[in-house]
Amino acid sequence: MRPGSVTTLTPIPKFAEVVLPLPVPRPYTYEVPPELSGRVVPGARVVVPVQRRRVVGVVTAVAVAAPAVTAKAILAAPDEEPALAGPLLALGRWISRYYGTPPGWALRALLPGALWSVQRPAGPTEGTDRVVVLVATVPSLLERERVFKRSPKRRVAYEALEALGGSAPLRHLVQRLGLSPPVLDGLVRQGLARYADVARPRDPFAALSSPPPPQLTADQQRVVAGILATPVATPVLIQGVTGSGKTLVYLDVLRSVVASGNGAILLVPEIALTPQTVARVRGVFGDQVAVLHSALSDGERADAWRALRRGQRRVAVGPRSAVFAPVQRLGAIVVDEEHEPSYKQGSVPRYHARDVALVRARLEGARVILGSATPSLETLHLAAQGRVTRFELPERIDARPLPPVEVVDLRSAERVPEARGVPWTTALDEAVRDALGRGEQVILLLNRRGFATYLQCPACGDVRDCPHCAIALTVHQTPPALRCHYCGHEETIPTACRMCGKQTQRMRGLGTQQLEHFVGLRFPAARIARMDLDTTSSKWAHHRVLERMAQGKLDVLLGTQMIAKGLDFPNVTVVGVVDADTGLHLPDFRAAERTFQLVAQVAGRAGRGPKGGRVYVQTRVPDHHAIRAAAAHSVSQFAAVELPLRAPPHPVYPPRVGLARFVASDPVDARAQEAAEAVAAWLRRMNAERLQDALSVLGPAPCPIARLKGRWRWHVLVKAAEPRAIGRVVRAIGARARGVVVDRDPVSLL
Ligand code: ADP
Ligand code: ZN
Repeated sequence: MRPGSVTTLTPIPKFAEVVLPLPVPRPYTYEVPPELSGRVVPGARVVVPVQRRRVVGVVTAVAVAAPAVTAKAILAAPDEEPALAGPLLALGRWISRYYGTPPGWALRALLPGALWSVQRPAGPTEGTDRVVVLVATVPSLLERERVFKRSPKRRVAYEALEALGGSAPLRHLVQRLGLSPPVLDGLVRQGLARYADVARPRDPFAALSSPPPPQLTADQQRVVAGILATPVATPVLIQGVTGSGKTLVYLDVLRSVVASGNGAILLVPEIALTPQTVARVRGVFGDQVAVLHSALSDGERADAWRALRRGQRRVAVGPRSAVFAPVQRLGAIVVDEEHEPSYKQGSVPRYHARDVALVRARLEGARVILGSATPSLETLHLAAQGRVTRFELPERIDARPLPPVEVVDLRSAERVPEARGVPWTTALDEAVRDALGRGEQVILLLNRRGFATYLQCPACGDVRDCPHCAIALTVHQTPPALRCHYCGHEETIPTACRMCGKQTQRMRGLGTQQLEHFVGLRFPAARIARMDLDTTSSKWAHHRVLERMAQGKLDVLLGTQMIAKGLDFPNVTVVGVVDADTGLHLPDFRAAERTFQLVAQVAGRAGRGPKGGRVYVQTRVPDHHAIRAAAAHSVSQFAAVELPLRAPPHPVYPPRVGLARFVASDPVDARAQEAAEAVAAWLRRMNAERLQDALSVLGPAPCPIARLKGRWRWHVLVKAAEPRAIGRVVRAIGARARGVVVDRDPVSLL
């Protein structure tokens, strides 16, 4: 060996930690081949072998120690730039720890699905869609028999293409029609079809005209100036009544963020991501905007993601998952309608986009702006503590009055006799008739949820509550009993009302379908549309209904909570809440809050134009604070009553304490119960031995929705003032108990 020639020695192998999208608690260690060392950096996507498969993972650390066993080598690193910048990687870690989710499952939410595909590690090709085009016809049946003699599957594919007019996107054929790619390849080999790459179908929002935004009012200017003068690290809340022009305030703040060279994210609930909303954002930012709606194809989503990652687009607009948009130099995140439960993801990782927005903003030095006419009590609590700065927009644009709300007492008000089971009072009937007579529009809300039956006295309106949990008891048939769905408390079904002594009756459900039928009979000339989950299963169906409403082609729009959100129709002069009590007695501590928000929001749809408007709220509990506050359009009035009800001497609930829920489910009821009992026993032991009784453990009890998709469900709740205690048990159960759903900060307890 010549002196000084140490460089010829074999280099010491380098190792990297890679998180895989699998339910395992720790990253795996892989060897970094020298030719990939430039690209294997934290946040980079890599292809690695796992047993006999290959998967896409994300590098979380480099230059780590060699593992005890021989490490396999990383196979590929497809991106020039790491897919996840440092702060997003840190955000993934936070989600994993806070929600008790395996790190790989947390990271999975941060990148579009297409970027996890090992078939195409570089992601889908940009800008085009592959289509299959028929090039030869096989006209006669006899000939078909001959040509497809050996391959009946090819014949099915051929005839499907024929039925689709001779060509169709490959994605549609494979994903929707279930045809297999080798069969289509066969058609091509046989010379009957060919592949072609065509420009992708247009963005459904691309053709929208985008009006320039109006001048800010003095009130809006005051709020914009106030927000810009607030330290970036302090989140702000815009508490503005319905129709006060919150959107323009967001857009103006974001304009100055973008003007200073930064990017921004605007989160809106999926249902409010209407063409009108997108047009307003485009009116300010033009093609700087990437719209991330749920109807995008995998390829379109990956395109939008890449355009943001490269800084070609700087403003991301979208629902929940847009909180992970790879916006460069993030300057602000707006969470519109921050109280909306749809910001909580219903599957792993069960994150809340508002809370993730607050954490991400802290990691990136960005500003957070929350907005709502009916803020959540969580956010109001933060505002009361000074941890969020609140700005108010107390008046509607043009000083239009908020519509007067008439609370109609269903126990005593005169009803239309023909209505039978539909609670339809003469007051509401006359208002609807008059509005239709003047050529104005009507919105009718009926938020029916059929599964939890509670006991209410028809005479005095009293509802039987659990003595321990302050939620309504649910009526059970087998065995007959009233049961609490939090703690399991049980009592016999009383035969008389405890308050007034009248004989009690069970409530009967009424659905939107029945209402539509009745309204159709009652007002035969009216053009009526119904909007609920049953009518809007196809992706843009609700946009089409709303479009017709906006164009005046509908007279009555009726439906569930879907019609309460963010709509702005100036010709709506009457809003009727047909039965405000449908959600009030659900076994969920947020039942009153949700009812208040729903009624106040739908009331806010009336009188947005110069003709004014009126709201009719039909209820059996006219004095309930949720109803009263909604009638007064006053969130502070609601919070003033509701917040103390969640603090001692009452059973304590968020925002006073943190909450987590553990759900065990099984096709066999007894096994679900057993699993929930094991979780509860573990929690109680942990609480006594390690957590100094920081937790209160409730349950197990059957979930209010006792059986879902063939599985029986039992849950256990824990509450604690100390977030760390909740974090510890959430992580431990998340890592250990298979088949138990861990839901921290749940938005629903049903
Ligand atoms: P919110 O979200 O607070 O309910 P919007 O932002 O939807 O209210 O605004 C309500 C209506 O007022 C919309 O039709 C909007 O176009 C209009 N608007 C908002 N700001 C102004 C303004 N400064 N001048 C004129 N019209 C405005
Ligand atoms: Zn109870």
